[in-house]
Amino acid sequence: MSTAPKPRVAVIGAGVAGISAAYKLREHAEITLFEQDDRLGGHANTIEVEDAGRTLGIDTAFVVMNRPSYPNFSRFLDELGVATKEHAGGFNFFDLDTGLQYGTDEMNLPEEEVAARYPAEFGTIWREARRFHAEGRKDFFRKRTDLPLGEYLDRGGYSEEFRYGYVILLCTAVWSVPAELIWEMPATTVIAFFMAHDEGGLGGQRVDWRTVSGGSISYVRAAIAAIDPKLRLSQPVIGVREEADGVSVATTAGTEQFDYAVLATHGDQARALLTDPNEVQRRTLAAIRYNASLAVLHTDPAAMPGDRSRWESWNYGKVEVDGRTRPYVAYYMNKLHGFESATDYFVTLDYPRELREELVIRELRYEHPVIDLDLRTLQQTIYQVNEGTRIKLCGSYFHSKQLHHDQIGSHEAAFSSGLDAAQNLLRAIGA
Ligand SMILES: Cc1cc2nc3c(=O)[nH]c(=O)nc-3n(C[C@H](O)[C@H](O)[C@H](O)COP(=O)(O)OP(=O)(O)OC[C@H]3O[C@@H](n4cnc5c(N)ncnc54)[C@H](O)[C@@H]3O)c2cc1C
Repeated sequence: MSTAPKPRVAVIGAGVAGISAAYKLREHAEITLFEQDDRLGGHANTIEVEDAGRTLGIDTAFVVMNRPSYPNFSRFLDELGVATKEHAGGFNFFDLDTGLQYGTDEMNLPEEEVAARYPAEFGTIWREARRFHAEGRKDFFRKRTDLPLGEYLDRGGYSEEFRYGYVILLCTAVWSVPAELIWEMPATTVIAFFMAHDEGGLGGQRVDWRTVSGGSISYVRAAIAAIDPKLRLSQPVIGVREEADGVSVATTAGTEQFDYAVLATHGDQARALLTDPNEVQRRTLAAIRYNASLAVLHTDPAAMPGDRSRWESWNYGKVEVDGRTRPYVAYYMNKLHGFESATDYFVTLDYPRELREELVIRELRYEHPVIDLDLRTLQQTIYQVNEGTRIKLCGSYFHSKQLHHDQIGSHEAAFSSGLDAAQNLLRAIGA
């Protein structure tokens, strides 16, 4: 009895979306995995540092997940036998110029104590944060949140203190968006996140946030060993074209023919790579925007508040530079990854001042989809892009079908979209 040859599938992009698709297809297809970088993982980017005779894996983009909001990704880690680790929760907001800081503990104080012990500015933030979470929930269910966050806050009469001392800091941290784009985010998406997670964001108060033991590189290595693809590392794809009986994939080394392709790059990159997009692909990819942030892994405590007893896993800072208030995020990686070391490691996002050069371990530029009302509206039809075509798209610009339209941009969203692209492909080949 002869067995039919497996279809040849090109997976382009070895971030979590591409890895997820390749993993699902591994027994049904002959997989070639193209990755432009010289490493696998995309935003699962662990830097391994030598520390007192051992290797510490420190994540620099994707860091946290939790089981309830990451069901598909959690199952995948379980299948691979990759462990996760809980971390000491807690957040801290700080203003480097004034020294004002407040965090998990202060947000839980009674109002009289806030009034007695803290400046009026924090009193305003404390009250409006409570109002925002309570009213936001009601407005969400009454469907009054389908507008940009900035407008939602205007309508609710929220103060500048609250916007710049709370909203901006949390949103920068959760979605890695620069401050100027936060007001464009759908209010629904922001409120839905806080309803599903802790009020106050990544504080680890109610949600058991976890990191991957050894860093996310652990799951990337285990998945690639299970998939065992033909690897084309450091090979940027420069064109993808659907033909009558297959897909051609071009790199500078030449053009290869496949039966199908999974295009797991970012949406704007997919737009540029599709040589001859159909109408649905053109329409779907037309309006997706990305923004860049600079992540730096370093050991310079200047980015942190002076009082180290206030250092939490999640630190949201602000500082005035050139007359402008600049928010930034500082992850305290020792606490976040839960390791002990004589050296303090930080990952800062868009820290607006100079860090001491000798304390910088790595600088990394990441791009993230801009989550605005257009992207959220697109989620209603986005999965149609993979119908009736040999090229299946996926990435964190898709939502997770199991969750809802507001789950965009996360590891679960990217992972689930890769899974869905693979399932769609498997239906096409009758597997
Ligand atoms: C700073 C930061 C922190 C984050 N933290 C978290 C977090 O804690 N939790 C969370 O859930 N999410 C987090 N995210 C969101 C994160 O982006 C997603 O979780 C997810 O990792 C994105 O996966 P992806 O596969 O869509 O894209 P990517 O991981 O970016 O993968 C795309 C891959 O395609 C490759 N590629 C692109 N063009 C080509 C080409 N022409 N040829 C070949 N290869 C190509 C790229 O090199 C890359 O490897 C964070 C994002 C950032 C930026």
